[in-house]
Amino acid sequence: MSLSNSRNQFLAFESHNQDNIQYERKGGIFVTTCVCVSFILCAVLVATLVGVIVYFITYFKLSQSVSTNDFWNEAEPFGHNGPPSPDLRLPSAVVPSFYRLKLRTDLDNSNFKGEVYITIKAKSNVKEIILHSKGLSINDKAKLTEQTYEEIQTLHRKKREEPSNDTISENPTTATTANTLNVTIKEVEAQKPNETIVPSSNEHNETTPIKLNTNVTNETSNDTPANETTTPTAEIPIPNNTVYTTVTNMNTHVTHSSARNIQISSITKGSGDQLIIKLASTLKPDVDYILELNFEGKISDAMTGFYKSTYTGSDGQIRSLGVTQFEPTSARAAFPCFDEPAFKAMFEISIAHPGNLTALSNMKVSSQEDIPDSPGWRWTHFERSVNMSTYLVAYIVSDFKSVETTYISKDNITKPIRVWTRPELINKASYALTITPKLLEYYEEVFGLPYVLDKLDLIAIPDFSSGAMENWGLITFRETTLLFDPAASGPRDKQNVAIDVAHELAHQWFGNLVTMKWWTDLWLNEGFATYIEYVGVDHIEPEWNMFESFSIDKMDLLRSDSLKNTSPVSRKVIDASEISQKFDEISYTKGANLIRMLNHTVSEELFHKGLLIYLNQWTYSNAEENDLWAAMSTAVKSDSNLGQLSVVDFMNSWTRQAGYPVVNVNRNYENGDVMFEQKLFTSSDDPYQAMIDQLWHIPISYTLPSQGNQSAKPQSAKPELWLKERSVIAHLPVDRTQALYVNVDAIGYYRVNYDTKNWELLSAALKSGHFKSPITKAQLIDDAFNLAKFSHVNYSQALGLTTCVIEGEDSKVVWELLLNNMGFIKYNIRSTSGYVYFQDYMKILLQKQLERLNFGLSKPKDDNEAFLIENLVMWECEVEAPRCLKWAQEEFTNWSTQGDLSNNSIPVYLRSLVYNMAIKKGGRRAFEFFWDAFQNATDPNVKTLIINNLPSTRDPALITLLLERSLNDLPNQYASTVWGVEPTVGTSIAQDFLMKNFDAIYNKFTSMDEFTFPGILNGAFGFITSEDELNKLKSFALQHKDKLLPVSQTLQKMMDTAKLRIEWMKRHAPTVNAWFKDYVTNHKKSLPEAPTTTTPSTTTASTGNATQTTIGNEIGTASSNTGNVEQNGTTVAPEINGTTTTTSP
Ligand SMILES: [Zn+2]
Repeated sequence: MSLSNSRNQFLAFESHNQDNIQYERKGGIFVTTCVCVSFILCAVLVATLVGVIVYFITYFKLSQSVSTNDFWNEAEPFGHNGPPSPDLRLPSAVVPSFYRLKLRTDLDNSNFKGEVYITIKAKSNVKEIILHSKGLSINDKAKLTEQTYEEIQTLHRKKREEPSNDTISENPTTATTANTLNVTIKEVEAQKPNETIVPSSNEHNETTPIKLNTNVTNETSNDTPANETTTPTAEIPIPNNTVYTTVTNMNTHVTHSSARNIQISSITKGSGDQLIIKLASTLKPDVDYILELNFEGKISDAMTGFYKSTYTGSDGQIRSLGVTQFEPTSARAAFPCFDEPAFKAMFEISIAHPGNLTALSNMKVSSQEDIPDSPGWRWTHFERSVNMSTYLVAYIVSDFKSVETTYISKDNITKPIRVWTRPELINKASYALTITPKLLEYYEEVFGLPYVLDKLDLIAIPDFSSGAMENWGLITFRETTLLFDPAASGPRDKQNVAIDVAHELAHQWFGNLVTMKWWTDLWLNEGFATYIEYVGVDHIEPEWNMFESFSIDKMDLLRSDSLKNTSPVSRKVIDASEISQKFDEISYTKGANLIRMLNHTVSEELFHKGLLIYLNQWTYSNAEENDLWAAMSTAVKSDSNLGQLSVVDFMNSWTRQAGYPVVNVNRNYENGDVMFEQKLFTSSDDPYQAMIDQLWHIPISYTLPSQGNQSAKPQSAKPELWLKERSVIAHLPVDRTQALYVNVDAIGYYRVNYDTKNWELLSAALKSGHFKSPITKAQLIDDAFNLAKFSHVNYSQALGLTTCVIEGEDSKVVWELLLNNMGFIKYNIRSTSGYVYFQDYMKILLQKQLERLNFGLSKPKDDNEAFLIENLVMWECEVEAPRCLKWAQEEFTNWSTQGDLSNNSIPVYLRSLVYNMAIKKGGRRAFEFFWDAFQNATDPNVKTLIINNLPSTRDPALITLLLERSLNDLPNQYASTVWGVEPTVGTSIAQDFLMKNFDAIYNKFTSMDEFTFPGILNGAFGFITSEDELNKLKSFALQHKDKLLPVSQTLQKMMDTAKLRIEWMKRHAPTVNAWFKDYVTNHKKSLPEAPTTTTPSTTTASTGNATQTTIGNEIGTASSNTGNVEQNGTTVAPEINGTTTTTSP
C-alpha cells in the first residue's frame, strides 16, 4: 500500500516545518490597509482572549483530576510496554488452504450476501475453530464436513458435459455442499476415461479441489443426520497442471465413504473480531474439513472492507461502484476468514451483479452466466487464485471503462494489462498503461522471477483512502495516483503516478509473492517496495534523478526519527488496533533506507544474488526479516572481503533499535589518526537510557574533495571501515589541509559531526565549489542545521553554509534541503521581531537563482527545473517579495475574471501557489470562488489542488466553516484534508473545534478507515510552539484516553515535537535572529531594489496576524521585479489542473 499524499503530509509532521507539510499553502499578503490592520488586530485580540478563557476553563477542569503521567509513560520507550492482547492472534491449530467464495452484491440497497466454503486442516486435536468476522451476520446454516481420501470402490454414474462453473449454485438458499467427498483425479480419470476435459488454469504446486455432485450415503458417519446425504458437492484435489474433469448429475452411490458432517455446537463472537465455532467432536490432524458459512453484510460508506464509492457521470447522474480495501484487517468485514497474512490460501471467487456492470477480481474471468431467477443479473466466475494472504483479495463491481495493452512475461506468456477508470477520465489512462509493461519487464529482471498471474488490472477509484493498494492482479489507486493528462497536469502529477505505479508493482513480488509473517515485519513489505519504487522510476524516467529525491526524503525522515518516542522499524504489535500505526514513514522510508544501505554495503551484485535466493526460497510463502538476512549471508559468503560480515547482526542493529546515531569525527592533525565515535542522535534532553546505550554496526565511507593540487579521492559509498563499538581510531591518509567528508552520498543512515577545524575545511570546500555532488552539499547543510538544533555545533556555522547558494545554485536537492531547514526556523520565529530580518535574508538568498530562472516566467527546460521553480517562487512569495505577490495576484485576477475557468494560463507548476495566496489573502470572496470551483470540478487533480489550498484561509469563520464541512459536506476522501489548517490562527481554531466536537469527529473519521484520524489530531495539535498549547494537548489526551490509545504513537510524537520547538525557542531564537539581523544589516545592498509600483489591491479583504501585518507594511516600499504576465511564454494547459504535493508514498 502506498500512503496517500495528503495523509503522508499529515504523518510527516514530526519535526518538519509547516512548509514541508502543507507545501501548497504559502504566500504573502495582497492587501494591507490601515482599516485591515485595525480590524485584524481587534480580531486577533478577541480570538486570543476567547482562546485563553476556553483554554483555562478546559485545562483547569481536566488537570484537577488527572496527571499526564497516567497517559504517557515517560520512563519507558514507546511500544515496549505490556504483553500482547490475548485476542491479537488466531490460534494456529487450524489452518485454511482454500476459500470458495460466492457473493451477491446489491449496490442499490448497500448490502451483500455470501457463502464461503473454507477448506481447513487441524494441526492437532481441537474442538473449536477460531477465525475472523467483523460486522457480518452469520446465519444458522453453518456446516462442517470432514473430507477423506479413501478409495471409492463403487462409483457408478452417468456423465453430462457442463462448464466448470455450473457446479455453483445460483440460489444461495439451495446451495448444498454437505458431505463433501474427496477422490484424487487419477481415480476419476481411471474410472471415466471419456469424461469431458476442462483445462485448468492452475500453475501452483498445490492440489486443487474441484466440485462434483454426488449422492453419498454416509454409512460410517457418526455425526451426520440421516437426511443430509443428498446431492452434495465433492472437493477433489488434483495435482498441479493437471487437466480436470467436471462431472454433474452423477448417480454415484458410495458405500464406504467416511465423509461426514461434524456437528457444530455453537457459533459465538469473541473479542478481537473473532468468530468462535465450538464443535461436538474433535477435529483430527491432517484431515481436510470444509467449513461452510452463509453471511450477510452492509456495503459501507467508509473506505475500508467492501465499500461503495460514487461519482457524478457526465449526464449529472450519481453512479456507484463496489470496491474492496482489505489491508490490513478488513477482509474479515467482507467475508469470514482467517485474516492474518500468514494464513495464505487459494481463493475461487464468484460475484453476482447487475449485467450492465463489470466485475473484476484478482484473477481472470473464467466464465459468466445469467441468473435465471434474477433477470438482468449475472454471475461472473473467476479462476482459482494462487496461494495468497487475505489482505490481498480484491473484487470490484463498476461501470468503468478500460484501455488495454499486452505484455510478454519472462516465462513467455502474453498477459493483458488494463487500466480502468470512470468513462469520463479514460483519456488520462495512457501514461500508466505505457509505464506498467516497462516496469514489469524491469522488475522481472530485478527479481529474477516472472509476474505470476495471467493478467493485471489497475483501477482508479473515486473514493480511496490511501495512495494505492497492491491487491494481487487488481491494483487499486486514487484517481490522482493513476491518471495523468499531459495537456492538463504538471510534472509533479506525472511523478506521483510513476511513483505509485512503481511501488504497487514492486509489491507483486515483495509482499504478494513473498509476504511478511506478521505485521511486525510490515516494514519488509513497505520498505522494500519503497526502495524498489525509486529504482523502478529511475529506470523508466532517468531525467528525474530519483535518488536525489530519495536523499531528500531520507534527510527529512532523520528529523522525525530523532524524536524521543520514535520506534524501530521492526516493532512488536501489542494490540490489533495498533497495526495501522505501522503504516508510517518509519516502515516505508526508514525501511527503504536500511535496505539501500545494505545494498551499497554488500555491492549491487551480491545484493541481487541474495534477493534471488530469498524470493526463490519463500515464493508463495511468508518470511521474517531474518530470513532475508540469512539469504543475504549466503550470497556474501563467497566474497572474501565480506566473508566476515554478519548480515544479521549488522541489520538487526538497525531494524530492532529505535532512532539512529551521530558519528563524531575527531581528527588528530599531527599524526593523521581519526577517531570515530557513535552516539544516539536525539532531540530529547532526557532520552531513554535503553536508547542511549544502543550501539549500531555502522559502515563508514569517506572521501576527500579535490582542493588546490590535491586530487579528489574517488567517490565511493562502499564502507572502508566499521564502527561497531562506541569508538574506533583509524589512521587515514588525509593531508592536514584537506577536508575529510564521511558518509559518501548520504547512503549510511546516520549523521556526521566533525571537529571545528574539519568543519571549517568542509565549509571552505563547499563554498569554493569543490564538492560536485549535490547530495553531498545537501547532506552537509542538513547535518549542520540539525546538529545546531541540538547545540552540537553553533548556529552561525550552519547558517554560514547557506551562503553557498547566494551566487546561484541549480540543484533542486540542495535548495530543497536548505529551504526545508530554513522552514523550521521560519515557522518558529514567525511571531518574533527577528522575522523581518529572516525574510530579508531569504530574499537575498533567493535573488540570483530566481533571476537565472527568470522568476519562472519562461518555460522550464525540464521537469527538475519546474520543480525548482515551484519551490523557489513559493518561497519568494512566502517572504513577501513584492514582485511575487504582485505577479501572483495578477495571475489570479486574470484567470478568475475572464469567465471561462477552463481557460487557465497560469503555468501548471505554479497554480498551487497562486491559488494558495489568493485564498490566504482574498478573504471570503476568494474562498467562495474556490469552494464553488471545487464543487463544480470533475477532474480529480483540480479538486485535489483546490481542497489542499482551501485550509490556508486566515478567516476564523471560514476555517470553522471548513471544519464543519469536513463532518458533513465533503466526500470522505477529501474530508480530512481541510484539517491541514495553518498555524497559529487555523490550528488554534482546529484545537477548540476538535475538543468541542470530539465524539462526532472521532466517530466520523475512525469509521472511515484506520488511518485518517491521526491526521486530524495532527492538523490540530501538530504545530505546537508554546507550553500552553502543549498542556492543552495533554489534557485533551487524558480526557479521551481510552479512545486515543490506538493512536498513542501519534500523540507521543506530537508531544515530542512540541517540546522540541518550545525548547528551541528558548535556546536558539535569540542567536538565530541576531545572525539574520547582522547579515542583513551588513548586506543591505544585496536586497532586491525598492519598488517602482505599489502593491496591487484588487482583493477586498485580508486577515492575518500581527507579524504579517508588520511585514505587509513593507510591500508598499519594496521592490517589484517585473512579474509581467504578458511575457509569460510558458506553454500552459487549457484547463485548471496540477497538484504540488511533495511527498512520496
Ligand atoms: Zn506499499
